[in-house]
Amino acid sequence: MRFDHRHLLGIDPLRPDEIVTLLDLADRYVALGRQREKHATSLAGLTQVNMFFENSTRTQASFELAGKRLGADVMSMSMQASSIKKGETLIDTAMTLNAMHPDLLVVRHPQSGAVDLLAQKVRCAVINAGDGRHEHPTQALLDALTIRRAKGRLHRLTVAICGDIAHSRVARSNILLLHRMENRVRLVAPPTLLPAGIDGFGVEVTHDMREGLKDADVVMMLRLQKERMDGGFIPSEREYYHRYGLDAEKLAHAKEDAIVMHPGPMNRGVEIDGTLADDINRSVIQEQVEMGVAVRMAAMDLLARNLRARPTEVIT
Ligand code: ASP
Repeated sequence: MRFDHRHLLGIDPLRPDEIVTLLDLADRYVALGRQREKHATSLAGLTQVNMFFENSTRTQASFELAGKRLGADVMSMSMQASSIKKGETLIDTAMTLNAMHPDLLVVRHPQSGAVDLLAQKVRCAVINAGDGRHEHPTQALLDALTIRRAKGRLHRLTVAICGDIAHSRVARSNILLLHRMENRVRLVAPPTLLPAGIDGFGVEVTHDMREGLKDADVVMMLRLQKERMDGGFIPSEREYYHRYGLDAEKLAHAKEDAIVMHPGPMNRGVEIDGTLADDINRSVIQEQVEMGVAVRMAAMDLLARNLRARPTEVIT
């Protein structure tokens, strides 16, 4: 089993075999999570600190549960309310953290690159739980696990990623992962919601949902990230839903057994029809949440093995 990384900051540095290693381990943790007794000891004796500089419900809860199931001491800090407002710099935060000796640090931050910066300043392993529009690696890994379990493979699939791609770290990490595993990735969005430099991504791009969904195996919807929009990106939510919202009629253009995904939180009736989101024959949105815990357990387990393999840094 090889996973030669000190941190998990993005999908970009991961090789295909490392992705497979992580997903295989996550599969074992899915099985553990379905048992009455859910405890393992991979993180026993280690301290995990979750620092969220941006709101989060499911990701924070998922990391917390993952750490507890593996026996870590877990502490969650909600930073937007405290030090960030008081003007503490990231470097100050890193110094404070170093003094607490955590082993694993899970960070979400509104600025792209902030988690990488923090990782250079702290002594522990760092996991990026989403930085600005940059990366959200555990989301892409949990999506990959969901796809692999539903489709039986993670290569040569056609995956349509639809909606607000410009503001989405979820889209970026998924594009990187799906591309690396040799899938065909199609982006479907209005021109205003596509990022600049999209040509370098190695993906197909269309502005038409029916064309984009044609023969897709996987339809991945994204949330309209209104908090990152500072202008008129869409004419109105109603118009957006009409053209880009996923409903049964548009989904009929995908393969008959295509699965529907959404990272949450969902804007029902804006990017996806509520009934379709709840349709257990098509939607795997609940599975994504379950896979999230397992993938985070696997990621922290692999990083902890690497931590334990290194000599303890003696701090005087
Ligand atoms: N929860 C995901 C994220 O943190 C997706 C979203 O918020 O739309 O990026």
